[in-house]
Amino acid sequence: MLGAIEAGGTKFVLAAGPAPDRILARHTIRTRDPGTTLAEAAEWLAAQGGVSALGIGSFGPVELDRLSPKWGFITNTPKPGWADCDIAGWLGQALGVPVGFDTDVNAAALAEHAAAGGTAGGALAYLTIGTGIGGGLVIGGQPVHGIAHPEIGHIYPRRHPLDTDFSGVCPAHGDCLEGLASGPAIIARWGKSLSELPADHPGHAIIADYVAQACHTLFASVAVEEVVIGGGVAQTPGLVERIAARTRALDNGYLPSGTRHAVIRPRLGGDAGITGALMLAEAALKA
Ligand code: ZN
Repeated sequence: MLGAIEAGGTKFVLAAGPAPDRILARHTIRTRDPGTTLAEAAEWLAAQGGVSALGIGSFGPVELDRLSPKWGFITNTPKPGWADCDIAGWLGQALGVPVGFDTDVNAAALAEHAAAGGTAGGALAYLTIGTGIGGGLVIGGQPVHGIAHPEIGHIYPRRHPLDTDFSGVCPAHGDCLEGLASGPAIIARWGKSLSELPADHPGHAIIADYVAQACHTLFASVAVEEVVIGGGVAQTPGLVERIAARTRALDNGYLPSGTRHAVIRPRLGGDAGITGALMLAEAALKA
């Protein structure tokens, strides 16, 4: 049996099953302080009949360098109590099993890449547009880490001509992608979520433009075949279609592989992250 955690800032999704595509039990708990939350997660997982490895897809930033003494830590998050939390080490010790660990979005990208069954070629990106904006990247079947992990939410897009007065909400950058197009940025500008705005409100085109710029950047910089878009804001009716159309317009027929590029919703729906975490558990078992 494999165990998995999709660790988010507001909730932890837990699951257990014999394979990533066979979830037999799942459970959701509220994220509180690390001691309470991790103990509750470990208790549920221990009750699932012999979990032999654990996979964690976590909110970040996290340490992914295997040579670092802080591998498996959530590092400098502003979330109270969670900075410098040894999430992988604590849970691995509590359950006595090997742990696979990555970002929540890298886990989701891994699962979507597998679900694409080869149609995404060697490279796929997963973007989540929600309370924040995060991006995961799989190239050659492996999640990309580099010296840390991608922070695609913090690239700077070109400003939309109808959106020049808003300074953005990212505490570090102001008008980076997350500062302009995350759920809190939408509320800060227009007082409502994107799905609550009327269909003819310019906000839809503005947000689609910013996310489309990120998609184009991913196609042009790392030559992914698909950008999969999940997260709460992406549930807005028509948004992903708008982003896909705007991405094609921005490319203007230039990229040689352009006809194979796709901007799509997750094939796995809301299960991409937890399925990817189970894949991390499976890999940890084989390591
Ligand atoms: Zn930023």
